[in-house]
Amino acid sequence: MTSQITKEDFARMIAGAVASIRAQHDMLSELDCATGDGDHGTTMLRVVDRLEKAFTSGGPEDLKTCLQEAGWSVMGVDGGASSSLLGIFFGGMADAPGCGGPTDRSDMAAMFEAGLATLRKQTKAQPGDKTMMDAMVPAIAALRAAAEAGKSVIESLHDAAAAAKAGAEATRNFTARHGRAKFLGEKTRGHPDPGATSMSLMFAGFCSGFEESKGEPGNA
Ligand code: ADP
Ligand code: MG
Repeated sequence: MTSQITKEDFARMIAGAVASIRAQHDMLSELDCATGDGDHGTTMLRVVDRLEKAFTSGGPEDLKTCLQEAGWSVMGVDGGASSSLLGIFFGGMADAPGCGGPTDRSDMAAMFEAGLATLRKQTKAQPGDKTMMDAMVPAIAALRAAAEAGKSVIESLHDAAAAAKAGAEATRNFTARHGRAKFLGEKTRGHPDPGATSMSLMFAGFCSGFEESKGEPGNA
């Protein structure tokens, strides 16, 4: 059972997330038509273009450098609130000590936790407020719990993806308290949050991308 995660593994996780968003961007914009201005899918396409570039530049960059580059580049996307927040998140991941060297499951959880800690300096949104946090917070908690339970990387990513999906689906019943959707207030009930949905798609992509990098599920 492999517990090390290389930069190449991480690049494949990113590639999985890129594919997942590209396949569903129309749906993301439709969700944003109900609660916002309809641009979330377009913004996320730009975000994943930049992520892909940061991880496939072909240079000798280590994981930390790739994440720093991804953070700055995503922050520079001409788009909505979500791109700035995601840029801050990916850039924050680079601050985790574990991404400078060999990375294991616990280091991976710590990287996502570092991204979340940086993001929390920018937004007061909490789970329940109908934002991307509703998917991100439980997904990252699941990564930590899986690492502590000694689960494999694939199992950890499966748990994170399942938690993100459940978190995103739950937003349907919430009232938006942040961002553009806040102005629609109660009218946002009954519609899933676009940003939580895109985070759920990204975590599903991290999982499928890593699985593809290891061949048959269960090898890592
Ligand atoms: P915009 O609302 O500027 O058009 P997008 O449509 O790209 O941006 O993204 C909207 C998503 O961004 C929301 O569904 C929500 O998940 C997330 N979001 C917006 N504002 C915040 C915030 N303050 N904190 C956390 N997430 C936010
Ligand atoms: Mg929007």
